[in-house]
Amino acid sequence: MVHRVVWRVKEEGRAVVEDEELLLAVLNSAPVVDGRPTDTLDEPEAADWARALGGCGTKGERDRLRRVRDAVQALVRGGSAEVGGLAAVLDRVRLRPEVSAAGVSWRLEAAPDEELAARVVLAWSRVTVELPRRLRPCANEECNLFLVDHSRPGTARWCSMATCGNRMKARTHARKRRSEG
Ligand SMILES: [Zn+2]
Repeated sequence: MVHRVVWRVKEEGRAVVEDEELLLAVLNSAPVVDGRPTDTLDEPEAADWARALGGCGTKGERDRLRRVRDAVQALVRGGSAEVGGLAAVLDRVRLRPEVSAAGVSWRLEAAPDEELAARVVLAWSRVTVELPRRLRPCANEECNLFLVDHSRPGTARWCSMATCGNRMKARTHARKRRSEG
């Protein structure tokens, strides 16, 4: 099998930001739009979307991404501790240590269309370990998006203040006024 070497586990700092961006792009690829669930992975542009994330755009890759997405979403929501789907994605890839004067770095070796899903699993792990309890589902139950909370007190609840935050606040406010009136 031809292995492609594409991705390197980078130094601290920048890498966790990149991991977070990749993880959220995949976790948030099934948004609810105008009250209807959608799935970026089913759309005609799905291949371009995956390539923009560094993938190769095949159907097999999308199938793996969907499995990883569903498993990580369930884990983050706390309804599942099932990691079989994630283990299957990691089963065929290798991390190889490489030494330089700067220290040891790890190189991911994977077949082209198995690499992106593996990167997402590694990104999920890294974000979960380095930012414990900061990856969470949006508190709007009608929203299917996730967020990584970077606020100092750790109290962020919405995927976006502009959309879900304001909507939920307006709803709470209206309920309060109704009960007061
Ligand atoms: Zn939301």
